[in-house]
Amino acid sequence: MTPAKLAKVCPFKPSHFTRGVASYTCKSVCPFMLLRYDVVAKISPNDFDTLEQYTDDVPPLPSIVQDIKDIIRQEYVDYKTDLQPARNLIVAPSQPLFNGGNYPQFVVDNGMSEIFAAVSQKFNELLGTETTYELVVESGYRNPQRNKDVGSIYVNSFHVKGQALDILIPVGGVPGKSIPDLWCLIEQAGVESGYVALPEDGPKPLSSCRHEDVDHIHIHKLGN
Ligand SMILES: [Zn+2]
Repeated sequence: MTPAKLAKVCPFKPSHFTRGVASYTCKSVCPFMLLRYDVVAKISPNDFDTLEQYTDDVPPLPSIVQDIKDIIRQEYVDYKTDLQPARNLIVAPSQPLFNGGNYPQFVVDNGMSEIFAAVSQKFNELLGTETTYELVVESGYRNPQRNKDVGSIYVNSFHVKGQALDILIPVGGVPGKSIPDLWCLIEQAGVESGYVALPEDGPKPLSSCRHEDVDHIHIHKLGN
């Protein structure tokens, strides 16, 4: 068998494309397209006396089609990122807000779930209240193409590696705590959980969790 035919197959809605599958203009909204190899067999009739009988019995040959995980992995190859995610790191997001990428089904989760669980637990320990408060994820994973499109110049961003979350204070706040108190508690919870925690204004790190421009706490784990 030889891969004899290379075809492009687009599994996404045609409305995403303006000029057919070979050309699309929606930039980061559209993932790369899937490649499909149709496998065909060539058999020399000289080797067989009864070729017609065989062809009736042989089932259709399969196609080899890239799946979405292959497409995501190909992006990392194309962007030459430090992390080249194995298929087992590409998973369904455990929270919808973990996914700031272009692929609704998948994120690279290289620690996001564990960061959220640890920081949420520590935050509530530090608060010491009877009520458990839910931290809010502002964003998490971004695929390389998406990361570039939102203006990041860091191809190896911790968000691309799936090992960072941007966290917000609980909806409605916490009685008796000011907003800066809560930013500082999230930062402290991140540090005490063993992560790097940075108060930020958009992409800009700030010197203090009490800075008036803090709009999230970025938390990442070190290593790949
Ligand atoms: Zn961040």
